[in-house]
Amino acid sequence: MIPYGRQDISAEDIQAVVAVLESDFLTQGPAVPAFESAIATYVGAEHAVAVNSATSALHIACMALGVGPGDTVWTTPNTFVASANCARYCGADVGFVDIDKRTYNMCAVALASKLKLAAQRNALPKVVIPVAFAGQSCDMQAIRALGDEYGFAIIEDASHAIGGGYLGKPIGCGDFADITVFSFHPVKVITTAEGGMCVTRRSDLAEAMRKARSHGITRDQAEMTGPSDGAWYYQQVALGYNYRMTDMQAALGVSQMTRLDGFVARRHQLARRYDELLAGAALTVPFQHPDGLSGLHLYPVVLHDSARRKAVFDGMRAAGVHVNVHYIPVHTQPYYQDLGFRAGEYPNAEDYYARAISLPMYPGLSEQQQDFVTSTLRGLLA
Ligand SMILES: *Cc1c(COP(=O)(O)O)cnc(C)c1O
Repeated sequence: MIPYGRQDISAEDIQAVVAVLESDFLTQGPAVPAFESAIATYVGAEHAVAVNSATSALHIACMALGVGPGDTVWTTPNTFVASANCARYCGADVGFVDIDKRTYNMCAVALASKLKLAAQRNALPKVVIPVAFAGQSCDMQAIRALGDEYGFAIIEDASHAIGGGYLGKPIGCGDFADITVFSFHPVKVITTAEGGMCVTRRSDLAEAMRKARSHGITRDQAEMTGPSDGAWYYQQVALGYNYRMTDMQAALGVSQMTRLDGFVARRHQLARRYDELLAGAALTVPFQHPDGLSGLHLYPVVLHDSARRKAVFDGMRAAGVHVNVHYIPVHTQPYYQDLGFRAGEYPNAEDYYARAISLPMYPGLSEQQQDFVTSTLRGLLA
């Protein structure tokens, strides 16, 4: 079976995890700050806060930005449900902005018109969560400008995009988002088995997120309501969770980071090869915007004919190619339908969904396997 995504684990990765198992700390030890510092340095952000998933990262990012009941958070329908659920965890309402037909990312033009209407109705979002779909940055310059104009904060869901860049800088550098979130699920660009990270320039947000990931507890005298009782003392000053990453995961992350650029380069090699092997087929290959370098988590092709999608998908699976579809538009999920969203509201995301298939894309995919994927796909389309 050829999966659509898969981790790349080296002997060094395994040794890094074993070393933690043989050390004093399985969690809350030195590997977590080491991983945070590796990511912060790589992306050029001042602060990094590691957590046990990107879902948790999105949640504490919303918490740090003060999202609560009565607030609204907007995201894209073409994403994993976690990008919207984080607002619901905080009791906020969710809104969606349709996607751009070329990049499948949140459309900055659609965002601008929705904001104009929302301003008239006094219903502006507190936070907007653009998602770097497939690893490609959104039009963050335009989204940031709209944020400055309308006063919303930006959480960039870069779960697909670590190792990618935008306007010559790493995704997560902080020029365009208040907080950027990465995922380290095994199908993503690097892995810690489960894991996520928030990066930010702002120390106040980093502090709030550190507290939120560990019960709302502080050991910093300056944050306490009165003098400390002694060296053992801590105070719970807010309501938080246990969203901590373990040292085993963080050590794996540090080790994976040493190969990140190689992973992304290999993904680009495979994407260029797919582009060539699929030239002239009845589908559209992913558009790569010249403004950025995609992390290339996914390689979604869009069939010209939506009526063929199911048969082509089933044919690929039957041939042992475990293709997938990213994403079922979030607003069409029953949970969001119950909140009042309706199919038809975001036509670009729905049209994309009806025709998309994600082909295998991971560093360990061989050219021979890739040839098999493309010849099988061509055969099914013929
Ligand atoms: C994978 C993913 C998430 C959730 O990541 P986890 O680490 O599995 O919690 C959130 N948003 C997007 C866009 C994702 O692809």
